[in-house]
Amino acid sequence: MPDDELVLKISPVKAGLLCKCPRCGQGSLFKSLLQIADRCSVCQFDLAKSDSGDGPAVFIIFILGFLIIPLALWLEASFEPPLWVHALLWPIIIIGGSIALLRPLKGLMVALQYHHKASDSGSVDYD
Ligand SMILES: [Zn+2]
Repeated sequence: MPDDELVLKISPVKAGLLCKCPRCGQGSLFKSLLQIADRCSVCQFDLAKSDSGDGPAVFIIFILGFLIIPLALWLEASFEPPLWVHALLWPIIIIGGSIALLRPLKGLMVALQYHHKASDSGSVDYD
């Protein structure tokens, strides 16, 4: 099957959010928590060229900032907890939320780059 037909059949959003290979949608995109595998274990697609850059981190900063700042202000205004509650609670939520969101958003960025045949240089470099 030609590569262009595969690109059209695999949803980049589904493959990305499930952390699957952007070409076949089956192989795992990651070889460790946040490190992208060199090759897809199913279709042998070269994933080493994939680079999501800082994109996922920027989205996570916006998403978590949008959620956590109002929650922290609401907690303070409603219950006036001691300072140690804020110092203990928010770093755990921010670090946990960042790690939880980083994998699917990194997968989404890689899948969208593959789907739209994008690269850092602006030229098509996927096989
Ligand atoms: Zn694959």
